[in-house]
This record gives sequence, structure tokens and C-alpha cells, in this order.
Amino acid sequence: MKVCKFGGSSLADAGQVAKVCDIVMSDPDRRLVVVSAPGKRHKQDIKVTDLLIACANARLDGKPTADALEAVVARYRAIQEELGVDPAVIDTIRENLFETLGGNIEHRERFMDAMKAAGEDNSARLVAAELQRRGETARYQNPGEAGLLLSGEYGNARLLHESYDNLARLREADGITVFPGFFGYTREGEVVTFPRGGSDITGSILAAAVKAELYENFTDVDSVCAVDPDLASDVQPITEITYREMRELSYAGFGVLHDEAIIPAVHAGIPIRICNTNRPELPGTLIMSEREVTHGTVVGIAGSSGFCTVFASKYLMNREVGFGRRFLQFFEEEGLSFEHMPSGVDNISIILREEELDESTEARIVAHIRDELGADSVSVEHGLALVMIVGEGMRYTVGVSRRATAALSKADVNIEMINQGSSEISIMFGVKEADRTSAMRALYNEFFEQG
Ligand code: ASP
Repeated sequence: MKVCKFGGSSLADAGQVAKVCDIVMSDPDRRLVVVSAPGKRHKQDIKVTDLLIACANARLDGKPTADALEAVVARYRAIQEELGVDPAVIDTIRENLFETLGGNIEHRERFMDAMKAAGEDNSARLVAAELQRRGETARYQNPGEAGLLLSGEYGNARLLHESYDNLARLREADGITVFPGFFGYTREGEVVTFPRGGSDITGSILAAAVKAELYENFTDVDSVCAVDPDLASDVQPITEITYREMRELSYAGFGVLHDEAIIPAVHAGIPIRICNTNRPELPGTLIMSEREVTHGTVVGIAGSSGFCTVFASKYLMNREVGFGRRFLQFFEEEGLSFEHMPSGVDNISIILREEELDESTEARIVAHIRDELGADSVSVEHGLALVMIVGEGMRYTVGVSRRATAALSKADVNIEMINQGSSEISIMFGVKEADRTSAMRALYNEFFEQG
């Protein structure tokens, strides 16, 4: 059995939905299909999920919403009409969307998640109806009825482990099951979503639950590339990559697969294939536990902006037992999760995502560190980007960081921070946001173009 997941661009219009159904029907093992909400049809277009978020915000602000929601219905209707699917499905979709929009708004996040989830939910109804029209035994599966249970962290849910046993039953289902991505239910029966792009996570969870032989993730690129293809010409495709490499690269900015989607597949030992809905015959990229390290030391280079550092120094910090714990505690008390923690003899720093730290939280944290820990200096630096080079082969190769730092210096990029060693397969550089693309270009040039 294969689990295949189709991203938003694969469901954007009737032509794309037809390709999805062709792909599913071309292999009898493709029995569990996970779908995103319809995405962009062209560059300026708006994803259905974003249209739904706008509708939800309008309702929360007491503004009119009916026209905006009709525009969402129209996205589904255009697909239904062009494919000739039974129009009854549009009545169901319309009813579902209006009912969700009219829901209780006392709990804002809960309402927002219900609205966001409606995009994939209705996508699944439509795809199931199209497969039925083509004569397949296909059915829409509600995630709650299948037992996909998640934590009550709205917009950022995590899987509850008991879901695996519930979802394993999907293996026995007849015909093709079409399952909406991106959301599940709390134990109390409320809809709750994963982070944005979370349909990838749903696909991976289902693949693990039914012990699929393969998790196919269909998107709109031929394969994962060694660097963002906008940054260089003829960027090298990656044919094989390990879970660990992919997890690090996704975390650091590779947009093809959600970084949290790797874990369920890893635990169940299921390979993931990234492939293109528009060219399904191509091999794509295979993500698996081991690969032969033949094509160089570095497999990919990723980078992302939007980080900041909180830096503290205190003379003889190294001898003060409990300093690190108390330092971290301030962040925990504010509910902040941090990304990295480089430290020195008398100093310590925490790297966070900018979105985590608003002005008043920042002021409180700085005051705590200064007053309660007696730090000699505390500062916060904004506008940081993290750039990462990743490759299993780096473990065995001498001189990778020398080559990387030399390339960055040649490109006139000042390195604010280096983190090497915590992970054997990556080196991370902190640079100014303005230097992110030149840093990535310089590293790509060094490791891929120069050999
Ligand atoms: N539709 C959701 C989003 O735009 C989830 C997904 O496509 O994976 O983030």
C-alpha cells in the first residue's frame, strides 16, 4: 500500500485535479490519498486556505463575509463544473463552509482552525466525488471518525500517539480513501490544525499508521534541489537524501516538505518520494534512512531569515552553577521556544524566531537577565538569518568548514555565529539577513560548482 499526498498546486484547478486522479488510478497500491486545499493557479492567485483565513478574520472583526465565502465556493465549483462531477457535492461543500463560518467565535483560535481546515476537508470531498464519477470505489474520510487525535495547540497541533492504532484500520478499507490533510481533532472533538503546510505531516502519519511501503509526496517540482533554484542556474537535483539530511534542510528553509513530516516516516522506516504531479514519470527525490555517500560531501544548502539572538555575558559565568538553567527559565516562563543556544566561557546566547519575541517580552527578558542573574551585559540582535550546509559525508571529510568560511569571506559575508559539532551532518552559520542570499550563493558555488 502506498500513501500519496497532493499539495495545493496539484489541486488548484480542474486540470490539476484530473492529473491527481490519473496518478491515483494508475497504481492499484495508491489506496490512501491525502489532499491539501486548492492552492494558487498562477503567481498572483490566492490559496483557498488564505481566502478562508481572510473570511475568518472578517467574521471576527464583525465585517461582511458572504461574498468572500462565495468566492471560495466558486473555486470548488469551477473544478466540479469543468470535470462534470455530480453538482450535489457543491451543495455539501457550500453548506459546510457557511456552517463553519457561522460557528461559535468566542474561542478565536478554535474558530480560525475550523475555518482553515475546511479548505482540505472540502478538497477531499471533491476528489472523492471525481474518483467516483470515474467509476472507482472511493470515499471521503473524516479525520475525526478515523481517530486522528491531536493536542489542543491551535494552529500548531501535535499528534497524540494513540492515533496510530486508530488509523491503522484504514489499511483494511475498500477502494480508495481520500483523507483531508492539515487537521485532526482534539480528544474533546474540536477541529485543530497542524502548522501551515501541515498536510505533509498528515501524509506521513498515515503512512506510518498503515505501514505503507512508500509515502509519495506529490508537489510541483521535479525533485528537491541542492539550493533554492532561484539562487543559481542549473541547480543540481538531489536524487537520494537521508531523513536526517532532509529534516535539517527542511528546518533551515527547504520549502518542499514540512520539516515535521519526516519524523513519523522515520519511526516507521517508510521511505518518502518527492515527485511532480505534472511529470509523475520522473524519479523525483527519495528520502530514506541510509544512502551511499557518493555525490560529494554536501548534499544541500538552505537558509532562512527571521531570527534574533539574546546575548548575555557575565565574568566567571563558567563557575556559576545554575546560571544556564535560570537563564533558560526566563524563556520558558514566557512560553518561548528557542532554536539554538551557542555559548562561550563567559557568555551565552539564545537564538529565537523573531515572531516569538515582541517588544514587551523582550524588555522583560532583558530585565530578568540583567537584574536577577546580574549579567554584565545583555543585548538583543535582530535581523539574523541562518544558513546551513548539510551532508552525511561531512563527518568523514576534513576541511569542510575551512572551505565554507573561506567562501563566505570571499563573498564579503560576515559570520556572526557558527554552530558546528552539535550535529555531525551540518554546519550552521548565523549571518545578517541582508547577506543571506550571497552567503547561500557563495556556498553553493564552493561545494557544487567548483566541485
Ligand atoms: N492548506 C494548508 C496551507 O496552505 C496546508 C497545506 O497545504 O499543507 O498551509
